[in-house]
Amino acid sequence: MQEWQKHLSNSVVKVEDLPFLPDSIEYRERLQKVADIYPIRINSYFLNQIKSENDPMWKQVVPTLDELDDILEEESLLVSDPLNEEGDMPVPELVHRYPDRVLLMVNNQCPIICRFCTRKRKIGFPGIVTRETLRQGIEYIRSHPEIRDVILSGGDPLLVPDKELNRILSELRSIDHLEIIRIGTRVPGTLPQRVTPELCNILKKYHPLYFNMHFNHPDEITPEVENACNMLADTGIPLGSQTVLLKGVNDDSKVMKALMQKLLRIRVKPYYIYQADMASGTNHFRTNVQKGLDIISDLQGHTSGMGVPYYVIDAPGGGGKVRLLPNTVIEHNEKEVIIKNYEGKIFRYPQPTKSSSEKNRLSNEEINSNTDTCQIAV
Ligand SMILES: *Cc1c(COP(=O)(O)O)cnc(C)c1O
Repeated sequence: MQEWQKHLSNSVVKVEDLPFLPDSIEYRERLQKVADIYPIRINSYFLNQIKSENDPMWKQVVPTLDELDDILEEESLLVSDPLNEEGDMPVPELVHRYPDRVLLMVNNQCPIICRFCTRKRKIGFPGIVTRETLRQGIEYIRSHPEIRDVILSGGDPLLVPDKELNRILSELRSIDHLEIIRIGTRVPGTLPQRVTPELCNILKKYHPLYFNMHFNHPDEITPEVENACNMLADTGIPLGSQTVLLKGVNDDSKVMKALMQKLLRIRVKPYYIYQADMASGTNHFRTNVQKGLDIISDLQGHTSGMGVPYYVIDAPGGGGKVRLLPNTVIEHNEKEVIIKNYEGKIFRYPQPTKSSSEKNRLSNEEINSNTDTCQIAV
């Protein structure tokens, strides 16, 4: 057994094994109800990163009674499939929402189970993704020439065994119109030992291959994680990171800035910050949208532009990602644009006036259109 497999098989999956569990029997019984609905998984590498109760690592993976809030609340707006992914699946486990790219779920197991997961409805339960759903997904891509980009997701694609992952990637690469393959994964940050030389040897056969990883807090970037990202970057894979804005974990400009700067140091380009989705059982992680805008304002101009990700809301019901920007345009008209810089200073940018050749061309067009009118009149 490899080291990463040991970490996985030593995962905490039961309430009684949770770190910093209160003694109260009543509390444990109530927490068991949460775990019956939403499974627990904390692999032993990640468990070691938890230093105290309620720290950012603890909050991401340890269930709390808050997860039952919206079951108790009658008028909850939260739903099991907030992005209506199931409604955009032409074949099982493949989401085709945008014109030229699809998301393919290749398994539904993860190195840790995040309490705020947008796919809380299906993560950790066996038997959802099968060889047959995978076959249908790949066939769908093969028969749709407009698809030039596939995102492998799940679950976590890197928990698929090497041989199987190699088979999936090679089948995808046999499709001529498929230009790029992306892997959406939380493995490098939560089970870095999974990034082995053997894995890298497989991945490098299938370029152009991109990684969209998932990091939420600067403390996730340990020496082991740095090593895993180095191996992947040296394999020639462009590395990107996605972050979920989470109350009590990273809803703070200083924390976000530290995260983005640390990511750049390990050759990872911050790509998205997501506003938390409206998934049942995750309400306690949601922040006000103004918080996200404030964080972008505190990053933009204050640190490397490369470290400023796009802040997006994935529109409830399946509208796709919509980018939100803090207001920097104060006035925009034909004559000028008035803008505000990162220090709050105001600047005026005059629009170009028409050049003389443009003016000439315009007056000629006027003459022509007059002739037209005359002709019609005749
Ligand atoms: C996020 C997402 C994508 C990829 O979006 P990009 O903006 O291209 O990164 C594709 N399909 C689905 C269903 C998604 O949710």
